[in-house]
Amino acid sequence: MTILDGKKTSNDIKNEIKVEVDKMKANGEKVPHLAAVIVGNDGASLTYVGSKVRACERVGFESTLVKMSSTTSEIELLDKIEELNQDTDIDGFIVQLPLPPQIDTQKVLLAVDPDKDVDGFHPTNFGKMALDMSTFIPATPFGILELLERYDVSTKGKHTVVIGRSHIVGRPMSILMGRKGFPGNSTVTLTHSHTKNITQITSQADIIITALGVPGFLKAEMVKDDAVIIDVGITRVPDEARERGYYITGDVDYDAVSKKASYITPVPGGVGPMTIAMLLKNTLLARERHRAMRK
Ligand code: NAP
Repeated sequence: MTILDGKKTSNDIKNEIKVEVDKMKANGEKVPHLAAVIVGNDGASLTYVGSKVRACERVGFESTLVKMSSTTSEIELLDKIEELNQDTDIDGFIVQLPLPPQIDTQKVLLAVDPDKDVDGFHPTNFGKMALDMSTFIPATPFGILELLERYDVSTKGKHTVVIGRSHIVGRPMSILMGRKGFPGNSTVTLTHSHTKNITQITSQADIIITALGVPGFLKAEMVKDDAVIIDVGITRVPDEARERGYYITGDVDYDAVSKKASYITPVPGGVGPMTIAMLLKNTLLARERHRAMRK
């Protein structure tokens, strides 16, 4: 069994990006600039945004953190987005989800300039991804592709089962695994909460990607020998014995399933760190595109 080590791989990617940024600096060029907007004080969201800003610093990007109060109106947020769209110094930006209930998330995602949409959530970018056109691939699916590629995990002709159909992970992942090329060329089954006999489906899978947010959902008896297991789930389980008051776990019963798997991602240290590394890659791509557009 091989552990798909997202922590190490994401560090490798960050080091590669830093080399490119150092070259830009040596040539007197502008470095990539990522902005992140956070609305409210949700603990997990603040942690994620903080990690994204720290990652920017580590590779030498410029970063801007825009903090808005939990009572921010939709109009105020849309005005801020327009400001970021117009700011020529900023190459890409993200709006951390979830947003407070008074704000329509879809309206917000539609307002982001597709050329700055480094999360890849705008319908224009999602459509391009589905049509195999060059675009920003959402960071978590992009990170999974990168892990499969760097560990040379075969995907051609394999049966990939994705559990969860969210717009940010499960749905794009199912499209990407089925597209032509590597990683891809899989036969894909997309499952969700209405899927019947899910064990029958998962036990035929060569590759299983879990993105549902139910701790320990995927059990050993649902998995065939030598399957590849990608666990996207991140759930905070309260635990007073820990200093932080919680621990993080995934969707896979790791101890039992890892005994049968050929490759597996741990939680934490698997898909999570890859997500941030790929956000940086998308920002680098955004900067290249903006330079090309200005020429
Ligand atoms: P989500 O919006 O929370 O949706 C969950 C999906 O799982 C839905 O499609 C739902 O089906 C399906 N589902 C729920 N219970 C199920 C069951 N018993 N059997 C089969 N399918 C079931 O999904 P998400 O935003 O992708 O998040 C999923 C997990 O990934 C969460 O733990 C989240 O924290 C984590 N995550 C991690 C990263 C990372 O960087 N590693 C990034 C994003 C998300 P229906 O559509 O029928 O409701």
